[in-house]
Amino acid sequence: NRQILLDNRPEGEATVNNFKLVTTETPPLKDGQVLVRHHFLSLDPYMRGRMNDSKSYAASQPLGEVMIGGTVGEVVESRHPKFLTGDRVVGMGGWQEYSVVDALQPGALRKVDTTHVPLSYYLGAVGMPGVTAWYGLVKIINPKAGETMVISAATGAVGSAFGALAKARGCRVVGIAGGPEKCAYAVNELGFDACIDYKLHKDMYSLAKALKQECPNGIDGYFENVGGMVLDAVLLRMNAFGRIAVCGMIAGYDGQPLPLANPALILINRLKVEGFIVSEHMEVWPEALTELGTLVAQGKLRPRETIAQGLENAPEAFMGLLKGKNFGKQLVKLV
Ligand code: NDP
Repeated sequence: NRQILLDNRPEGEATVNNFKLVTTETPPLKDGQVLVRHHFLSLDPYMRGRMNDSKSYAASQPLGEVMIGGTVGEVVESRHPKFLTGDRVVGMGGWQEYSVVDALQPGALRKVDTTHVPLSYYLGAVGMPGVTAWYGLVKIINPKAGETMVISAATGAVGSAFGALAKARGCRVVGIAGGPEKCAYAVNELGFDACIDYKLHKDMYSLAKALKQECPNGIDGYFENVGGMVLDAVLLRMNAFGRIAVCGMIAGYDGQPLPLANPALILINRLKVEGFIVSEHMEVWPEALTELGTLVAQGKLRPRETIAQGLENAPEAFMGLLKGKNFGKQLVKLV
């Protein structure tokens, strides 16, 4: 079983040298345990935070242990009556080719149906990132038909699901993404009404002008994924009583400060600004996953994936994700 361990912590920017590839024997199964062969490993921005040992909402990843991560795969051996060889499952197997899962623990392993939804989607649109979009939109922004929604990192795993969910609620949906290719994809494939390339704008005033053009009635809901200049520009265009779901601040994940240019706009526009962590709201997952699975089955949510081949390429693919090189959900294919 090949595994990738966190070997040392980044100072500033993370690098591939923070990780180490090792090979180990898989231990024999005990009662209640299941051996899973991973088909795909999910790479997600939250992993960057786990690499630090500073205080964060998530526990830091211990050095010398397999990197944490979501996985989908198949059961190859089972000592649990509910899991049979060949079952397709989703879990938190980590950066390795096989995992031994204590399936007696509630929520440790979940069987999934691949009749209408490809296995890998359970790590993206019909998995944690999809539920993240659902929670921020439905529970924090609470949109009304006809309102204008904006999301940054619009073509990513979370962003693409958000677009479909907001369109299904009759909103105008405007994305913000990096580069003309991503913006064209947001409009042509994901159904966004418009998408703004933030890389064309050197300051918040220039970006705010573009937002004014695409959001003629102002912005009622904003789903924040990046922070920095993008947030400053959006704040300039928020309507009174607008809602902001603070989901991520990826522009600052390497540790640099992300100052807010004009916090008084929160007061002036009586905004609701609320952060959240999707894993603290397990109660909404079944409802959210049902809606997301239906959107995929109906062809209304067609997420894109960027797939790296082989476990050994996971660190480099992860560096790419942190720099926006991924186009849609970043995965590593292991089988
Ligand atoms: P994505 O698939 O969207 O990939 C990350 C994207 O972020 C990149 O493709 C890039 O898109 C953008 N990006 C990277 N660096 C920067 C930067 N410096 N400035 C602006 N944009 C940047 O990832 P996910 O969909 O998985 O996650 C999106 C966000 O949601 C992240 O911030 C993540 O931490 C957060 N999240 C939060 C959760 C929660 O519970 N709160 C749960 C899951 C995710 P582009 O090229 O368009 O700039």
